Amino acid sequence: MNILVTGGAGYIGSVVVEECLKKGHTTIVLDNLVKGHRNSVHTEAHFVEGELLDGPLLKKIFRENKIEAVIHMAAYSLVGESVLDPAKYYENNVVGGLSLLDAMQNSDVKKIVFSSTAAVYGEPEKQPVEETDRLAPTNPYGETKLAFEHALGWYENAYGLRYASLRYFNAAGASAKCGELHDPETHLIPLVLQAAAGKIPAIDIFGEDYPTRDGTCVRDYIHVVDLARAHILALQILGERSAVYNLGCGGEGYTVNEVVSTACEVTGTEIPKRISARRPGDPAVLIAGSDKIKNELGWEPEFQDLRVIIQSAWDWMNFESEFK
Ligand code: UDP
Repeated sequence: MNILVTGGAGYIGSVVVEECLKKGHTTIVLDNLVKGHRNSVHTEAHFVEGELLDGPLLKKIFRENKIEAVIHMAAYSLVGESVLDPAKYYENNVVGGLSLLDAMQNSDVKKIVFSSTAAVYGEPEKQPVEETDRLAPTNPYGETKLAFEHALGWYENAYGLRYASLRYFNAAGASAKCGELHDPETHLIPLVLQAAAGKIPAIDIFGEDYPTRDGTCVRDYIHVVDLARAHILALQILGERSAVYNLGCGGEGYTVNEVVSTACEVTGTEIPKRISARRPGDPAVLIAGSDKIKNELGWEPEFQDLRVIIQSAWDWMNFESEFK
């Protein structure tokens, strides 16, 4: 298939592009490189630098490449920033997304896989979180992702669009070539590894007084390659139907302290910790109920072990720094 991956130069996008190419799909990447990195895009993908809001450019991409399906990952994704600057999030994540849907309409492309997020649930009422649970985002990031999910539903109803919304829990780890490189970095695992490498003085633990097994927040870490593979599986249903799936490993998850101690083992270092205040908006526990995607698409995470996830991120970080 000819697939357009928006945001394909980003952390998760670049791994999705690798998986698309492995499956023999012709892959076109659209990315504005505000957050993404040109050299994260696989050399076999066709790269276009540009904006979702550039209608004529989108039209040209769809026409020239005979696009048959879209994996839409281009978005802003910092919770804190979204609270301070909601306009930026509505413009890119909602208006930009609608511009993409327009271009799809014009080119009669009916299939889209959308990167959604566990942030659409806000503070869940129970764990694990299931797709049918209450949707109540607590910040503009989650709100804009949910707005686009809703748009997809209405476009299906009116125009026969087929979509798969994948609600990511905590993507982590790296493929051999692509890993997490955000600026600023806010995510736990890359920061813990930066502390292990001496690039930052310590890892801040955001709260040790949560009602969890060791007082720190519990999250469901999913290896980015497992996450990427789910996109390829999701593409396959779009001929017939639409769906919404959670994507996480489920189980007990891992606390922040467990992540730090596993990273100490993987890196062979004593990582300095600093206990800090809670980060506003962090739910104590966030675990995915992922039975739906397992049962319906046969998706199974291959790299569930936190040690394997962290090792892959560490290997990638060391591989990356060789080139700097
Ligand atoms: N966290 C932390 N210190 C950091 C970054 C994150 O203690 O420097 C915690 C954060 O409060 C959350 C967990 O680590 O409980 C995962 O945070 P991350 O930002 O990686 O992902 P999120 O769960 O916010 O999507």
